[in-house]
Amino acid sequence: EAAQNRIAAGEVVERPASAVKELVENALDAGARRIEVSVADGGKTLIRVHDDGHGIAQDELALALERHATSKIDGSDLLNISSFGFRGEALPSIGAVARLTLTSRAAGADEAWRIVCVAGEIGRPQPAAHPPGTTVEVRDLFFATPARLKFLRTDRAELQAISETVKKLAMAAPEVGFTLRAAGPEQEGRLMFRADPEQGDLFDARLARLSQVLGAEFAQNALPIEAEREGLRLTGFAALPTFSRGSAAAQHLFVNGRPVRDKLLAGALRAAYSDLLGRDRHPAAVLFLDCPPERVDVNVHPAKTEVRFREPGVARGLIVSALRHALAEAGR
Ligand code: ADP
Ligand code: MG
Repeated sequence: EAAQNRIAAGEVVERPASAVKELVENALDAGARRIEVSVADGGKTLIRVHDDGHGIAQDELALALERHATSKIDGSDLLNISSFGFRGEALPSIGAVARLTLTSRAAGADEAWRIVCVAGEIGRPQPAAHPPGTTVEVRDLFFATPARLKFLRTDRAELQAISETVKKLAMAAPEVGFTLRAAGPEQEGRLMFRADPEQGDLFDARLARLSQVLGAEFAQNALPIEAEREGLRLTGFAALPTFSRGSAAAQHLFVNGRPVRDKLLAGALRAAYSDLLGRDRHPAAVLFLDCPPERVDVNVHPAKTEVRFREPGVARGLIVSALRHALAEAGR
């Protein structure tokens, strides 16, 4: 079974950034208000995610490391998923290929507990010191699967991917504070990214957070987007054509609060800006598409960055028309 877990692990955790994504999503699911991420050597030797969420009770610590033990849905409601996690795969997958330490103090509990998992071997919970919330420490990711270690890129490239992952999740949750610290083998972590929890209504909070993540210039050039069609609701910001970029790096789509990677967005943006931008320029836009869960399938891939719309044409049409409308208004 341990070998099976190591194989399955590769589907959920491809690289340090995918482990960071899973751990930060768990912190968000736990209602954290502050999430601190520290990594060393591009996440290869250390990933630590600390949160102030609701924590894990002592008798559930081991369960959290066991396969397909999710506390988030009961299995009868796979289509109605509002939390990030639902498969109960991330912690066991990471634990199967690394040295994982899970330390947590549940809300209201006066003690914290720690459990260690090394290459799939789960230890017994031990008393620990920890404020309310959870810290997951992952050391030597993939030490138990040397073949996978070989596919990792340079520390610098892995750190870049981690930074993008944290920033994307920070855009999705402006009410939550984030820090990312990065270190070499023995040195103190350098602060790479910081976003304090944003106050106020969602519109203001989002704009302030996008200004933190993408720069004040994006926020200053951003047109607010708000549109609805056939049960799909689109909000967010699209930049004026003058703020276009040479790459698509500033294009972000969130579906029901999840960052997704989908060709749909690039295509819709190209169509919306077609009269305004040459093909070598990419407009910047951060869009949030919300729809009833049954209209979209997030279960396509274990890492859950891909979605499949039941009617992709409706989503695409909504984005194109909303952006064209906003651009036309701005051009007046
Ligand atoms: P999933 O998120 O799909 O439920 P995971 O393997 O990511 O599965 O996590 C397993 C379980 O561990 C979660 O269902 C949750 O109960 C618990 N858990 C993991 N991380 C945290 C955290 N940071 N705070 C509170 N509970 C957590
Ligand atoms: Mg999870």
